Amino acid sequence: MIHMSQVKIPVKKLVQKCPADLLRCGRIGKEEEELIKQEIRRILGMTTERIRNLTIIKKSIDARKGQQIHYNYRLTFSCGREQMLVKRYGRSDVIWEKEPPIMEKHLSPRMIKPKHRTVVVGFGPAGMFAALELARLGYEPLIIERGYDVERRQKEVEAFWNGGKLNPECNVQFGEGGAGTFSDGKLNTMIKDCFGTHQKVLQTFVDFGAPSEILYLHKPHIGTDRLKDIVKAIRNEIIALGGEFWFGTRLEDIVAKRNELREIILTREGETFHLACEKLVLAIGHSARDTLYQLFESGINILPKPFAIGARIEHPQDMIGRNQYGEYYKNLPVADYKVTHPITGKRGVYSFCMCPGGYVVNASSEEGRLVVNGMSNFARDGVNANSAIVVTVSPEDFGGRNPLAGVEFQRKYERAAYLQAGGKIPVQLLGDFMKNQKSTSLGDIVPQIKGEYALGNVREILPKVVGDSIAEGISVFGSRIKNFDREDAVFSGIESRTSSPVRILRNEFMLSSVRGIYPCGEGAGYAGGIVSAAVDGIRVAEKIIL
Ligand SMILES: Cc1cc2nc3c(=O)[nH]c(=O)nc-3n(C[C@H](O)[C@H](O)[C@H](O)COP(=O)(O)OP(=O)(O)OC[C@H]3O[C@@H](n4cnc5c(N)ncnc54)[C@H](O)[C@@H]3O)c2cc1C
Repeated sequence: MIHMSQVKIPVKKLVQKCPADLLRCGRIGKEEEELIKQEIRRILGMTTERIRNLTIIKKSIDARKGQQIHYNYRLTFSCGREQMLVKRYGRSDVIWEKEPPIMEKHLSPRMIKPKHRTVVVGFGPAGMFAALELARLGYEPLIIERGYDVERRQKEVEAFWNGGKLNPECNVQFGEGGAGTFSDGKLNTMIKDCFGTHQKVLQTFVDFGAPSEILYLHKPHIGTDRLKDIVKAIRNEIIALGGEFWFGTRLEDIVAKRNELREIILTREGETFHLACEKLVLAIGHSARDTLYQLFESGINILPKPFAIGARIEHPQDMIGRNQYGEYYKNLPVADYKVTHPITGKRGVYSFCMCPGGYVVNASSEEGRLVVNGMSNFARDGVNANSAIVVTVSPEDFGGRNPLAGVEFQRKYERAAYLQAGGKIPVQLLGDFMKNQKSTSLGDIVPQIKGEYALGNVREILPKVVGDSIAEGISVFGSRIKNFDREDAVFSGIESRTSSPVRILRNEFMLSSVRGIYPCGEGAGYAGGIVSAAVDGIRVAEKIIL
């Protein structure tokens, strides 16, 4: 098999030959495949008829300034006399491989029935993939989720966005699918993964309804509208394999004897009850502050960790598109961006969780506190681009020796955000943010926000060092993306839940300081997004199975 990287095709050529709808979503059709084959022919001097089993591993866009915009492909294919061909070519971007580089793990189904069911707490990506893996191997897991199923959850969230009361048990953070359900569904990750678990996660999403191009796009995404159906399909598969779901049920506490898990204490509709449990996957996400406090009190070792806070900024999507892709911005997938700037000392200011063609959402989960985040649908067809602009904060900023000091730090600023506009999302023009003054009217950019908002002073609700760092970063970002620093760009705040403020310690068997508990995913501090949380869930399931 031949493995080739750096196969480049100018976007101009693709625009001429390929259907517009496929180019827009990044999916490779037969016209694009033909162009790729022609490029292979040009590079290797062989006929296209010889190319068999062409597989695209990665497709990424290269729009660096001063270059012709092109797509870059990494691919494999078979043809005859492969080693000879590679030797003749003689460069490292074309190599011959005997076997695919990814190693698959083969686990055997469960043989001995354990005394008690394995319990998975939390059905976000970590819990979902742990539960699916366990169910596929015959473990018939019991899934405990404090929020509702995704259909009912959607109604709760929409009612809240339309001015209704926050349900602290079922919202953008809590409920079936976890925090990523109302998201852009970006699936890129930086994690190291020599066993192909990352690819397994993407393949699972495709098997349950995600578009197949997520398997090769450099920056794959699914979108809120499609994620909901995928989550439901995975739930149904787990049930078909013998798993069981208890929605609206919260893990309150654990009961351990000699440092060994014996029971869990659950609450449903105001009633508390005990359940015998020896193995617990703890996949509660980074917003389950009440549970974190309880677990800490019950002897689980927790450490504070750095995270980032800031505010979300909105620009017109067309402005971002033109800047990134020039004349081709309407032919290509909706453009994103990534900007970073080091601040003197050990902080950085950077864009985070960019949502092209998306919405800012009220992502609160505690009464009297307010937090925002971003989401997009699959088509990413909203008129604004939004992204969090955040600054790193570390335990030194939280003060105190309490492992949960980071939680209190988040709470303090989320409370300030809530109070500023009486529970509505405070929004502020960038020009006013720079002057640290309240906005009194909007400019040309109409905020695309799910949830009620009101004009305010977002800078005032941020820690001073964070507000100042953002102001410094914005001036730099304006030189990278034209008009990024326009005065009527809209800030909304506060974005405080970029990652977990704690890490729940675990040993080499992925067990917490209380045996039988497997802390997992973002809340435990081992993931920073949908895919890394899902990968962590699979790894924990593998530890339980082995
Ligand atoms: C609006 C938004 C947009 C995002 N966009 C993206 C994106 O585009 N790409 C990306 O990679 N990441 C994104 N993220 C982050 C991503 O969603 C998280 O990294 C990921 O969901 C973490 O997965 P998890 O399973 O560890 O935890 P979570 O998804 O937080 O799931 C935890 C689950 O546990 C449940 N739970 C908590 N406590 C208890 C308890 N005591 N008892 C029972 N159940 C409990 C919760 O209800 C929740 O369903 C976004 C997050 C938000 C909020």
